[in-house]
Amino acid sequence: MLLVGLTGGFGSGKTTVASMMQALGAKVVDADVLAREVLSPGSEAFNQVVEAFGTQVVSASGKLDRNKLAKIVFADPAAISKLNSIVHPRVIEREEEIIDQIATSEPDAIIVLDVPLLIEAERHHRVDVLVVVDAPMQVRLTRLAERYKGLDKAALQARMQHQMPLEHKVKLADFVIDNSKSLKSTREQTERLFAKLVQLAAERKRSRPTNG
Ligand code: ATP
Repeated sequence: MLLVGLTGGFGSGKTTVASMMQALGAKVVDADVLAREVLSPGSEAFNQVVEAFGTQVVSASGKLDRNKLAKIVFADPAAISKLNSIVHPRVIEREEEIIDQIATSEPDAIIVLDVPLLIEAERHHRVDVLVVVDAPMQVRLTRLAERYKGLDKAALQARMQHQMPLEHKVKLADFVIDNSKSLKSTREQTERLFAKLVQLAAERKRSRPTNG
């Protein structure tokens, strides 16, 4: 098993690269999906979030109103720490469970851990290989403005400021994918990188002592 951490900045293209890697055969573990899972209505984390931020963060359908919650926490550093302290430990626990399951059923798997705050949460020490998806701030803002039509660039930029600057993450990376250009260019880089990861996984397997 090779554990690959995939991270980057807000809107830098983590999900895009993760799905390309999945198509190439990687097993992707997506922290955003797990965060949604641990915050499902009625869960312990859901109840703690409602207790901390009030019923205003619950939508009419009884689910967490993620936009409302985002507005509250991105305006208040203490609120974001509170939310992270509820959600992060549970997401990490789920990640580890899933990694264990995959490692048991497919010992040769390349597992991609897609986690926006991997480095901020010091989880990058956990992975064998760290991949950072990079794109300039202006490119990210333009792409995100297209995706989040209701948010202006100032609001998007404010969200970016809660993360470690992307250039710091790039310095820590074993490999960087430059997602500033076309999807074709990103796909080509991802394919080249994936071939290297397959090679690395094979080398690790050869150097691992066998039982018996
Ligand atoms: P988030 O931080 O919100 O999780 P992310 O890092 O996962 O974002 P993506 O969702 O992959 O980023 O990409 C952000 C937006 O930019 C998406 O709408 C995506 O379709 C678009 N996008 C990503 N890469 C490219 C590209 N090379 N060319 C054009 N659009 C792109």
